[in-house]
Amino acid sequence: MQQNGKIGVTTENIFPIIKKFLYSDHEIFLRELVSNAVDATQKLKTYASLGEFKGELGELSVTVKIDKDNGTLTISDKGIGMTSEEIDKYINQIAFSSANEFLDKYKKDANSIIGHFGLGFYSSFMVSKKVEIVTKSFKEGTDAVKWSCDGSPEYTIETVEKADRGTDIILYIDDENKNFLEKGEIDKLLKKYCRFLPVPIVFGKKTEWKDGKSVETDEDNVINDTNPLWTLKPADLKDEDYKKFYQDLYPFSDEPMFWIHLNVDYPFKLTGILYFPQIKSNVDMNRNKIQLYSNQVFVTDSVEGIVPEFLTLMHGVLDSPDIPLNVSRSYLQSDQNVKKISNHITKKVADRLEEIFKNDRTQYEEKWNSLKLFIEYGMLTDDKFYDRAQKFCLLKNVNSKAFTFEEYKTLILSNQTDKDGNIIYLYANNKDEQYSYIRTAEDKGYDVILFDGQLDVHMAGMLEQKFEKSRFVRVDADTIDNLIPKEDSKEVTLTDRQKEELKEAFISQIPTIDKTEFIVDYKALDEKAQPIQITQNEFMRRMKEMSAMQTGMGFYGEMPNSYNLVLNVEHPLIKNIMREVDGKEKEAVDAYAAENSNIRQLIDLALLSNGMLKGEALNDFVKRNMENI
Ligand code: ADP
Repeated sequence: MQQNGKIGVTTENIFPIIKKFLYSDHEIFLRELVSNAVDATQKLKTYASLGEFKGELGELSVTVKIDKDNGTLTISDKGIGMTSEEIDKYINQIAFSSANEFLDKYKKDANSIIGHFGLGFYSSFMVSKKVEIVTKSFKEGTDAVKWSCDGSPEYTIETVEKADRGTDIILYIDDENKNFLEKGEIDKLLKKYCRFLPVPIVFGKKTEWKDGKSVETDEDNVINDTNPLWTLKPADLKDEDYKKFYQDLYPFSDEPMFWIHLNVDYPFKLTGILYFPQIKSNVDMNRNKIQLYSNQVFVTDSVEGIVPEFLTLMHGVLDSPDIPLNVSRSYLQSDQNVKKISNHITKKVADRLEEIFKNDRTQYEEKWNSLKLFIEYGMLTDDKFYDRAQKFCLLKNVNSKAFTFEEYKTLILSNQTDKDGNIIYLYANNKDEQYSYIRTAEDKGYDVILFDGQLDVHMAGMLEQKFEKSRFVRVDADTIDNLIPKEDSKEVTLTDRQKEELKEAFISQIPTIDKTEFIVDYKALDEKAQPIQITQNEFMRRMKEMSAMQTGMGFYGEMPNSYNLVLNVEHPLIKNIMREVDGKEKEAVDAYAAENSNIRQLIDLALLSNGMLKGEALNDFVKRNMENI
């Protein structure tokens, strides 16, 4: 038999389009062809199990071979093969009818539809000047056939001799793609795309070191693991298996903290294992670690759009034939299956975290530092996750005690509610720098949260919105009585003139600190309270912190750090200074202040307890105090 034909396609231009638009990465032709070979093999196994194929299955591996002399790359399988009718149906007609459809639609939105067309086999033309299919069907009494096409719509098909059942796809690699004839290149691609395919993929022979050089052995070089861990039953697996698989995927990584084995059949198919890595710092926030597979064929390692943003911090594999391949990210996000999958994963992750929290709180608290960033990230970006995670998100105080939101509220409710009924959450972001403020708060019986993580400023902002009648205030944002005002504060009864004089006395003695300004404030506190304190307004400070983290808030970022110098006008020392400067002109106040060692001493002590006394000013302070001993 010898038949010449013209493929049923109205346009002559399909091949240039395939070359140009079909896939951005040429290399994926190999994935497509090897997966076809695997599919054909799997189908044969199915027929055998159904009794529709009664012959010998034999050894069923797929072989990839390079022939440099002839410039060919051949993918061979021992699967179902094709009869000449089937070639006509599956290769000549089906593919091209969808190509027609493709051409119709591609004008509008090429990316969004590419993945919907079974053009897998035709991707071979991206790298070949000619492609041959030599195939023999498993069906008894059929002839082997050879189909050949040089990238024009014309093909030939003829009967040939072929001993074994199955298909050889022979690619005559074109001049621009000679790299696909290199052993190293094909080896790399097979390991990338075919590492977990369910049928053994053989590429050459295993090598070993002999007499100082690598020599080929007789043993087939199988490049894949046909039963990767995620395809096995969780009940049959031990922790060690999961840990080992993690090491296989990410050699030299720290042990994962824990993992989730996903296994859904309905309404979509999804299997996989997701690992929580140990996160030590933001340097570790390594994205693109989750690998996406479709029936064990590697698709991509960039899962944005499929997995919620915060979950891209996780590692592992996802396998779902229901995720459309080769489509644009924007298309993916609107795909209903992808949405369902994404929600399912979020739910499973929340379930797992809650389970560990409930079953082993000690372990959970130990791992909190690694989990924190991840959970906070999720809560900040995903409302559904917030709702779940509010049960197991922890607040740690400066003494390293951890509380759930509920527990913490119970802890502080009675003592940290202000006169207007607001619950005040006090926090510190640096235990050492804010030490004296923390102590003052603790002396009052208050509890102080440690918020020293990257996302904690954002968390404070969000929790304020979510919690009812609650505010988050940093311990150094105000004097202790004003942090949680319990009763209306005593009024300050100074005249404007008195305020002016007092301000001059202190401002004239404050050392200059780069990008820092002080605003004098007056408070009628208890006479035993501290005479002078430095505080920083919560709102202004948060604005500056936010602007440091993101662009577009430059205005706040440019502003100097503004601190309040709070004078306790009820304190005897301050009262005394007030009397001394009463009625004096500016110059006279300055002269008095320069001579009065108390003023400078009070300022320095306040700066010191705020970690702001540095350099020359600190040196002066030490010297002055040494002299007084
Ligand atoms: P898809 O695999 O998405 O259906 P392809 O263009 O890759 O699209 O293949 C078209 C059809 O050709 C397949 O559905 C299959 O019936 C047939 N085919 C391709 N490769 C082989 C093979 N190695 N053995 C048997 N049949 C094959």
